[in-house]
Amino acid sequence: MTRIASHRGGTLEFGDSTPQGFAATAGMALEEVEFDVHPTADGAIVVHHDPTLDATTDSSGAIAELTLAAIKSATIRYGAGANPLTLEELCAIYAPSHVGFRCEIKPGIDGMPYEDFVPRVVSVLAQHGMLERTAFSSFLVRSLDELARATARPRLWLVSPPVLRQLGAETVIEVAKAHGIPEVGVHIDTADLALQDVFVSAGIDFGCWAAHHREQIDKALSLQVKVFTTDRPTLAIARRNGFHGKGAA
Ligand code: FE
Repeated sequence: MTRIASHRGGTLEFGDSTPQGFAATAGMALEEVEFDVHPTADGAIVVHHDPTLDATTDSSGAIAELTLAAIKSATIRYGAGANPLTLEELCAIYAPSHVGFRCEIKPGIDGMPYEDFVPRVVSVLAQHGMLERTAFSSFLVRSLDELARATARPRLWLVSPPVLRQLGAETVIEVAKAHGIPEVGVHIDTADLALQDVFVSAGIDFGCWAAHHREQIDKALSLQVKVFTTDRPTLAIARRNGFHGKGAA
């Protein structure tokens, strides 16, 4: 069965990386919650998509240059007054849940990996009993290399449309194999059966991201990709239920 990952806790249903979205996702009939992490200036780890607070909260500034207290005073847009979560708080929400983590390692505002960040993320997840329920993802091969040194947990390379276009599937596979990356995810709009076959034939697991609209969700389900991320987890679950119902009839 194709796995569903609630992207940032279901941005189009609950706001971007909101406590409400993460709490709701923890009780859903899906397999994974996707989220992004950034370090604060004072050593905390915050669950937030952008490297800054500017676009998705009423505050501004780069997370890596702010204290946790400053970040906690920011209100997330469409978050019903809620504030960004720490990674520890996210672990607490999911401790009693059946839903697993898909933790994306984000770069800083300059597009480069944060120094010595990956081992700290792995350590917090381990301390809170979530590491064994976590798969990691990143657009950055360097971050995937750092993950390989820090943990044996699964790693997924997020391959953007420009990278896929510039490298081509064969070179993406070469890079993945050279770095021991067992799985890739491509934008749903760049996915098709032929591309999936190229990766799967090469022994690389294949998934999709950004399947937010009904047609995109249905495409991911009909391709039977391994996993897809979606901003509409409730819709994705309903489409998957219908899809399997139809298939069984
Ligand atoms: Fe992400």
